[in-house]
Amino acid sequence: MSSPEPQASAAARREALKEVLAQARGCLRCPELAATRRTVVFGAGNADAELMFIGEAPGASEDEQGVPFVGRAGKLLEKLLEEIGMARSEVFIANTLMCRPPGNRDPQPVEIENCQDYLLRKVELIQPSVICTLGNFSTKLLRGDPTGITRLHGQPEVLTLGSRAVRLYPIYHPAAALYTPRMLETLREDFMRLPDLLALGAPEQPQSLEVPALAPESPSEADPQPDREPGAVDQLGLF
Ligand code: URA
Repeated sequence: MSSPEPQASAAARREALKEVLAQARGCLRCPELAATRRTVVFGAGNADAELMFIGEAPGASEDEQGVPFVGRAGKLLEKLLEEIGMARSEVFIANTLMCRPPGNRDPQPVEIENCQDYLLRKVELIQPSVICTLGNFSTKLLRGDPTGITRLHGQPEVLTLGSRAVRLYPIYHPAAALYTPRMLETLREDFMRLPDLLALGAPEQPQSLEVPALAPESPSEADPQPDREPGAVDQLGLF
């Protein structure tokens, strides 16, 4: 897999992201998820976005359509973006897991670990200034710490992920806010601070710019599964 320089053009990074998508489509790292998913929900949006959102895992609608956050939580996310003058097409949206856990159960630690190389590659290639983690799973993963979202929401911090320094901004998951008006109010307040955070631009980047490439999947895992991946073509068109 090619690994463009950190200073590579947006076009080169987008091409590299497409390669990661092709690899992800054949991923069999989590046997249960690979056996039950309809699509690998890689992520969608602007491949050169300043702002990236990371949710938990695809649900039934996302699994069907191959696109993250297309259900009610996604509609709320779009509305909150609109309220700060942004469109979904400007940002990149991904999840901690790319495959739907059966019955919408919680992601398991081994699944999160299996998927995290893909997530870090997305961050390295998209090069966002700000990453908004939505809820506990992505916040705990990126911070490498079990502190929960209730304590952390709305507090930005600079974090180095792989070769990139980003401004991490944990906020409540919109799905949780759908049912709890107080949480929605807090989520909206946290959202309102996003434009100022984006205006700061990217934090200073680390000196060492070595970008490790994603290890290739085994040949059988890399086989595309076009009959079981109805959303894959759409995802390619989305970034
Ligand atoms: N919730 C998530 O965390 N991700 C989705 O893609 C949809 C709902």
